[in-house]
Amino acid sequence: MTKPAAGFRKMRGSVVGWLPQLRGWLAVVPLFGLSTGLSAHALGHAHFAATTWTVVTLAVLVVLVTQVVRSLTKGDVGLDLVALLSMSGALALSQPLTGAVIALMYAGGQSLEAYAAGRAGKAMTALVARQPRTALREDVGGLTEVLLAALAPGDHILVRAGDVVPVDGRVFRGSAVLDRSSLTGEALPITLLANEPVLSGTVNAGTPFTVVAERPAADSTYAGIVRLVEAAQARKAPMAHLADRYGLAFLALTLLLAGGAWSASGDPLRALAVLVVATPCPLILAVPVALVSGLSRAAGNGVLIKGGGALETLAEIRVLVIDKTGTLTHGSARLTSTRSFGPYDAVEALRLAASLDQASGHPIARALVEEARRRALVLSQPQNVTESPGEGVSGWVEGRHVLVGGPRLMRMHDVRFPPPDGAGLVAAAATATVLVAVEGAPVAVLELVDPLRNDGGRTLAALRECGIKRIVLATGDRRAVAEALVAGLPVDAVAADLDPAAKTDIVAAERRSGPVMMVGDGINDAPALAAADLGIALGARGAAAAAEAADVVLLVDSLAPLPQAILIARRARAIALQSVWVGLGLSLVGMVAAALGHLSPLRGAVLQEIIDVAVILNALRALGGPQDGGEPTTQDVPRGA
Ligand code: ADP
Ligand code: MG
Repeated sequence: MTKPAAGFRKMRGSVVGWLPQLRGWLAVVPLFGLSTGLSAHALGHAHFAATTWTVVTLAVLVVLVTQVVRSLTKGDVGLDLVALLSMSGALALSQPLTGAVIALMYAGGQSLEAYAAGRAGKAMTALVARQPRTALREDVGGLTEVLLAALAPGDHILVRAGDVVPVDGRVFRGSAVLDRSSLTGEALPITLLANEPVLSGTVNAGTPFTVVAERPAADSTYAGIVRLVEAAQARKAPMAHLADRYGLAFLALTLLLAGGAWSASGDPLRALAVLVVATPCPLILAVPVALVSGLSRAAGNGVLIKGGGALETLAEIRVLVIDKTGTLTHGSARLTSTRSFGPYDAVEALRLAASLDQASGHPIARALVEEARRRALVLSQPQNVTESPGEGVSGWVEGRHVLVGGPRLMRMHDVRFPPPDGAGLVAAAATATVLVAVEGAPVAVLELVDPLRNDGGRTLAALRECGIKRIVLATGDRRAVAEALVAGLPVDAVAADLDPAAKTDIVAAERRSGPVMMVGDGINDAPALAAADLGIALGARGAAAAAEAADVVLLVDSLAPLPQAILIARRARAIALQSVWVGLGLSLVGMVAAALGHLSPLRGAVLQEIIDVAVILNALRALGGPQDGGEPTTQDVPRGA
């Protein structure tokens, strides 16, 4: 049998590239051969029947051998070894019918797994592809947000920090730092100079830069999306841990029992019977089927879980660390007041700040740009922009050096705001403040209201209900703002004024009290997302860099599916475990019976086939309940798994 991972890996471009496609149809061969042989046998053509069974067994054996060799070269001593032994043993001992039955069992499992994986893959690709995606085009009059479909070769596109490059093209001028890990697996970001080619699907790991499109978006973006999904799927094998945990012990036990039965009875058929019953399809197939079903269910709710490993971890989470701006708040802040000092009035300060913030994907930046557009201010294109994630942006607007961001950014550039520059300015609950400086002098303080998400409180309560015992708010914003926002919510601790590194430290510290999931939206959250046991990114509006670093991406602009996703994960995991124990238990009983000579190889094969079907049908239950939508309940979730 194959490692479950194989169903998820697209082997495109490799020698065995045809294998995944073949796997889906593999069962047809033994099914046809088995029935042809049985009919021939009934009509008295025993020799023809035996030949047919031998041929189909050999055909499936060829595929099996390539799989075993492949997993052995990867260093996995797979359980498919047992299937290999029992099939070749059946042929060697002239038991072609037994061989054909095992071949059907093996191939049937392969088809089922290919089907389940394909189904989940399709759900995910569809979800990701449905996302409305836009790009910032540099037009004569300034920057315009356009749909990707409207991009044409020759267009100049501004790629903000943390954005995915939307089209294939070339760096316009200066340089760009790109994270290509999703495409090439390369961990280190690379620096590209002007005119060097940039691939869509890579993530801007540096400051904003301009790319000149070389291909229409449709040609390159779809490829980018597909690459992203494929990378997500290839990342972790579903339930690799579980199969690995029990696999080797089971293999050893099987060989011991088979060898013992053979030497005690002197009859190789007994050893074959043990091997046949041991062919551990429940372990190898039911587990991925249950997990993949869980992935597919979660995808249906707008939650992209990157593989079975992440699903397993999701089922075990005990601590939540959550980001504030854009995650717990809606990220669609509104400007409520502007205090200006110095040479510019409030409107001009907003115009300069918004012009610069066009180059940032931060929710506060988007709010400022929207406000400026609403007031019909003429924004100009910023030059040489640098973004410090979670701090703010600096750059040139109309020949003047502008800074927009929080107090940490101003401190970094030695700009002192007249007191009260800090807490005193925070008037109401759920307010964010943005400081603006021009040519090194303080110019304005903008106050925004960034309210809690509608379902924010309810989601936190629901998470608590499904077993999250500690909830920590981790924000780059000020303490007063953060504490006002979560007053009355089930939050155990607030950590404020954090830069990206400090957020990562908070996650690391919380890991001492149990498996931690970190939920965030920004580039400044990406390191913390990667450091957590499970990183969860808001993919609908958040930075692509965060989605990239995360194990789970919420593809809807809401936290609401999260409790449900945990329940789905727990259920899938519990069903997988149940399938393992029940399947292995039944096989073990059969193996002992076979060792004692109570079960012939053929009967054993048929019995094992029945166990497989039962266990796989059981695994498919993970596709159903807990019920869709509505309020998540803990009712039908097996606890204590
Ligand atoms: P959180 O960690 O809660 O998501 P951030 O660290 O992203 O918050 O942002 C905290 C503060 O940093 C904001 O309230 C704002 O003052 C400032 N800031 C960060 N990036 C920007 C930006 N691009 N434009 C304006 N302000 C920004
Ligand atoms: Mg944020």
